[in-house]
Amino acid sequence: MATTQISSERLDAITSTILQPTAANGVQGRTAVFEDVIAGLTRLISRYRPPGAEVLRFPPVMSRALLEKSGYLKSFPHLLGCVSALTGTEAAIRSLVEGRADGQQWCDGLAATDLVLTPAACYQVYPIVAARGDVARSGTLVDVESYCFRRETSSELGRMQAFRMREYVCIGAPETALTFRERWKPRAEEIATQLGLPFTLQPASDPFFGRAGKLMAANQVEQALKFELLVPVNSEEAPTACMSFNYHQDHFGTTWGLRTDGAVAHTACAAFGLDRLTIALFATHGLELFAWPQSVREALSL
Ligand code: AMP
Ligand code: ZN
Repeated sequence: MATTQISSERLDAITSTILQPTAANGVQGRTAVFEDVIAGLTRLISRYRPPGAEVLRFPPVMSRALLEKSGYLKSFPHLLGCVSALTGTEAAIRSLVEGRADGQQWCDGLAATDLVLTPAACYQVYPIVAARGDVARSGTLVDVESYCFRRETSSELGRMQAFRMREYVCIGAPETALTFRERWKPRAEEIATQLGLPFTLQPASDPFFGRAGKLMAANQVEQALKFELLVPVNSEEAPTACMSFNYHQDHFGTTWGLRTDGAVAHTACAAFGLDRLTIALFATHGLELFAWPQSVREALSL
């Protein structure tokens, strides 16, 4: 689909009016009109819910032990946020927060708790399904949503530290998981078309940590494990990933002891960045909802 560069005035208005910036980089307030679009996207994506999928919604924090076991620290330690809290006696805490502890800031008294900030919605799902025993032959499907956190350092529009991720997750035999992921490609294109968004669907890789991460990313592309639906927002050259479709092979199956039909289960997920899709819609169609194409408003039931 042909596109034209989105004006900087429009992008600035999304950054400072449709979203409300705060003192923290990548942490924004959502306005009513922004939330109206999120609700529309939620309705639209729900119409694509795989039959039989179980619905699970999570708060933005998860167990640190489960996150450690999932292998996140090997791949993305630089993006993780951990919840820490003040511990100790009342006197010790008071002197820290009142600035009376010798040369210590209050932050120096923080200790990690049993919680981390959830980095991806589907991480919560695998241990829950694993605890139920073997996965049925037909596979297990989950519709999950969570606010997620990633310690992003860039301040470009759409790269947030806290954002909502909706996912459909499939756990089953290798061909079940892979077929699920493949079926999502044309559906993603259909959704983007209904939303009137210019897009490309491309092989992609995760932002793995460090030098070894470069090799992991290259492998991921070579094995076609991840695809992203990209929409031009900030520029045509570096479009924004608004949806992603991942085949994890046996990574989570082995980690969590997920089994089906006597073998390790494979997993796949289709992830929708709700805030990014909303930003892409405002960037593409403008700031006034009433001026959006009728077909787009209908798709969102707005
Ligand atoms: P990923 O697990 O990186 O594939 O992320 C899943 C989806 O979440 C992506 O397709 C994006 O739409 C969205 N997403 C990822 N990182 C961010 C971020 N920093 N800010 C907003 N949305 C994000
Ligand atoms: Zn996922």
